[in-house]
Amino acid sequence: MVGVIEKELKANHSHASQVSASRHVQHGGLISKVNHSCSPSCGIAVNKSGAHDFIAFRSIDKGEEITFDYAMRNYSIEFFPNPCLCGELECRKSVNGWKGLSSIKKLEYNGFIAPYLLEMDRN
Ligand SMILES: [Zn+2]
Repeated sequence: MVGVIEKELKANHSHASQVSASRHVQHGGLISKVNHSCSPSCGIAVNKSGAHDFIAFRSIDKGEEITFDYAMRNYSIEFFPNPCLCGELECRKSVNGWKGLSSIKKLEYNGFIAPYLLEMDRN
């Protein structure tokens, strides 16, 4: 699924996508409709425009909802109401950002996350 940036944002908010360490945007098209899951079917790749494309993280069954983990693109998430309602067995019960993921989960998502998250971990 190809991502398109619809609007630049001055700050993080409830519908913001983080696209660099300091930049937040609003995605347009179908990307903006994809829900969070703690056991997602898709991950993130940053395309030439700086928007996020969604890449299949595992096989997706016919009729299955396409999901991603918001922590694959946002270092922190302050505006999501708790608890998480994804319903997955491994649900974290809270929609937290990359900084709140376990080291095991970070390794599991290797190659399917926005690259600035790793830079932010090092700073
Ligand atoms: Zn969940």
